Amino acid sequence: MNPLQLFDTYERKVRIFEPLKAGQVGIYACGPTVYNYAHIGNLRTYLFEDILRRVLEFNGYQVQHVMNITDVGHLTSDADTGEDKMELGSKRTGMTAWQMADFYGDAFKADLALLNILMPDVWCKATDHIDEQIAFVEDLETKGYTYRTNDGIYFNSRQLSSYGHLARLDVDGLRQGARVQPGERRFVTDFALWKFSPPGEQRQMEWPSPWGTGFPGWHIECSAMSAKYLGDFFDIHCGGEDHIPIHHTNEIAQTEASRGTRLANFWMHGYFLQMGDAKMAKSSGEFLRLASLIDKGFDASAYRYFCMTAHYRTQMSFSWESLQATDTALQRLYQLSYDWGEPGQACSDTLAQFRHHINDDLNLPRAIAVIWDMVKTDLADADKKATLLKMDEVLGLGVADWQPKTLTVPAEVMALVEQREQARTDRDFARADALRTEVEALGFQIEDTRQGPKVTG
Ligand code: AMP
Ligand code: ZN
Repeated sequence: MNPLQLFDTYERKVRIFEPLKAGQVGIYACGPTVYNYAHIGNLRTYLFEDILRRVLEFNGYQVQHVMNITDVGHLTSDADTGEDKMELGSKRTGMTAWQMADFYGDAFKADLALLNILMPDVWCKATDHIDEQIAFVEDLETKGYTYRTNDGIYFNSRQLSSYGHLARLDVDGLRQGARVQPGERRFVTDFALWKFSPPGEQRQMEWPSPWGTGFPGWHIECSAMSAKYLGDFFDIHCGGEDHIPIHHTNEIAQTEASRGTRLANFWMHGYFLQMGDAKMAKSSGEFLRLASLIDKGFDASAYRYFCMTAHYRTQMSFSWESLQATDTALQRLYQLSYDWGEPGQACSDTLAQFRHHINDDLNLPRAIAVIWDMVKTDLADADKKATLLKMDEVLGLGVADWQPKTLTVPAEVMALVEQREQARTDRDFARADALRTEVEALGFQIEDTRQGPKVTG
């Protein structure tokens, strides 16, 4: 049996996965910033994390999956300036920041459920962990890693010699030529741990702290909450590739300075979904949601399958044509599996091949090819069914529950179809055509077959 191997961004190589505690795996995944709906790009990252979790479970590990919800402190600019995305979203939607966090948080969970993504064991909201974040910043202050500017408490990245290792940042190059006024952030690589509420302004979300009223910086929530739920050093931390140079770099800096660990044993990143050549961004305001795909007649499972056709470490381009093509393949698989009937004995050779690919850094495209190869073999249908059901523990396509769509044709439509048949028998073709038009106006099609008229939706 080949061991599970995963790519670790920190070491820039594929490593054999060994859990820190026998049989158990702790995963922390950076969750959504709830100022808008998730777009299908965000969902690609959560699908990658779901596959990771299911592969770990397939390998017999018990997984503790923690996901945060960012509901404060994520600013529009990575330079820790600009507005809080939540306060801005509140102006856009007319909801309070608190209402909006609940609204988009619930919408996010509904999307995960539709995609058959297993729910995290722990959901943690930044605003529910203000004390933990303040305590973390106090510890960094005691250890000499902070300084005060006009607008907040900052992390002094020059204090930490390993700063930027995850992203292989050229920190000296980045820090060159910085001319700063007293009271300003000193280096581009420094970042806010605590921001003061702007003078004379009352924010919707603000708290007292040893440094004054304000709110936590975006990165501190993940260092503080992952330590609370998973400890100072846990197995796997994941997120999208955009998190490598800033968010995860800064999470590591905080935890390394305070706790002396690089936070997680494995750092894993899902690569972006692109729209054509452009990246899909929530802040651009123009994006596709899962609901947009459903509106076009696709099931959520079509998007799940679509994402599994590319490796998580390659960027993937979305188009309606490719979604349609993968959906056609998926519907064929569902139908085949349905026709295979009751499950028999799973084929251990086929499962070994499948496991080989999923354990090879989650190579889902190759794992899926194993299914299509199996379809062509002369394995008994019942055994194919049993093998597929086992694989579906990882794929999460819900093969066992799939049913062919049965079309319910209203009596009114059936009556029109019968009248049209009569008109055709009477050779009254004008009337037959008019009746067909009426049927089509009600959303149905008539196909004339040798067995008689067939009504489709
Ligand atoms: P956000 O809600 O903006 O904090 O992002 C939620 C998650 O989606 C993060 O893990 C991001 O790295 C990830 N993400 C953002 N845009 C994309 C994209 N176009 N494709 C894949 N993942 C993305
Ligand atoms: Zn995070």
